[in-house]
Amino acid sequence: MTDRYCVFGNPIAHSKSPRIHALFARQTGQDLSYAAILAPLDGFAASVRDFAAAGGRGANITVPFKEEAFRFATALTPRAEAAGAVNTLSFSGESIRGDNTDGAGLVRDIAHNLGFAIAGKRILLIGAGGAARGVILPLLDQSPAATIVANRTAAKAAELATAFGIEGGGFESLAGRAFDLVINATSAGLSDATLPLPEGVFAPGCLAYEMLYGRETRFMAQARAAGAAVADGLGMLVEQAAEAFFVWRGVRPDTAPVLAELRKG
Ligand code: NDP
Repeated sequence: MTDRYCVFGNPIAHSKSPRIHALFARQTGQDLSYAAILAPLDGFAASVRDFAAAGGRGANITVPFKEEAFRFATALTPRAEAAGAVNTLSFSGESIRGDNTDGAGLVRDIAHNLGFAIAGKRILLIGAGGAARGVILPLLDQSPAATIVANRTAAKAAELATAFGIEGGGFESLAGRAFDLVINATSAGLSDATLPLPEGVFAPGCLAYEMLYGRETRFMAQARAAGAAVADGLGMLVEQAAEAFFVWRGVRPDTAPVLAELRKG
C-alpha cells in the first residue's frame, strides 16, 4: 500500500515540496505519495489529526505553523527542541514525533553542495526569527571560529545569542568587523528591503548565503558588489527535504539531480 505524506502550510499552492519528494521517491523506488494541504489558520491541529487518522505516515510543516507543530508534537528530537520549531512530523500509533531538518539542510548545502568548510570560519547570521533559531545549533556543531547574530530588533538577537551562548545585537555592532560566511535568515528580500550592513562585513573569500530563493535580493546584490560568492536557499530547501525523507524512509536520496531539475524551473 502506498504510504502517504504531505506538507501543511497557509498559503501552500507555491510549495515545491510535492515535486521534490516525488522526484526522491522515483529515484529511490519508494512507494509513497506526497500532497500539499492548505490548513486553515485556526485549524492546523485538526488538519494534522485528520491526516494521521486517515493513515498518513508523516508531514512537513511550513509557514506559519512551525511553532504550533512544535507544541503539537508528543515527542521532540534534540534539534527540534533547540530550534523551538518543527518542520517534520512522523506519525506512529498515538505518537507524533517532531523534528527539524532546516539546519541540517542549510549545513549540508553549504558544506557539501557549495564545498565551503565551516570549521574555523567567522559566521554572521542575520535575523532572529524561526529560520535563524533553527540553524544556530547545526552551525555551531561545525566548530566555526565565531558566530554572531545580528537583527533589526536588537533585543531579539541578544535573546537568541544568550540562549546559545554566542554574541548578538543590532546591525551597528557589526561596524569594523569582517566575516567569512554571512547568512541572511531575514525575510527582508520579500519586501525588497536593503539591510544596513556596514562596509567591510564580507571578508575576502566570503560566502554570502541568502535563505530566500527564486529571486535576486538586495542582500545578494550587496554581497556580489563586495566580491563575495553568493548562493540562494534552493539548495537548503532540497537538502531539508532530503533529511526529512531520510527520517521517514531511512533512505538518503541523491539531491544533485533534483536540485538541477528545480533550477531548470
Ligand atoms: P520570521 O518571520 O520568523 O523572521 C523574520 C526575520 O526577518 C526577523 O528577524 C525580522 O526582523 C527580519 N526582517 C523582516 N523584514 C526585515 C527588514 N525589512 N529589514 C531587516 N530585517 C527584517 O521568518 P523566518 O525566520 O521563518 O524566515 C526568514 C526567511 O528565511 C524567509 O524569507 C524564509 O522564506 C526563509 N527560509 C528559507 C528556508 C529554505 O529552505 N531555503 C527555510 C526556512 C526559511 P525583526 O525581528 O526586527 O522583525
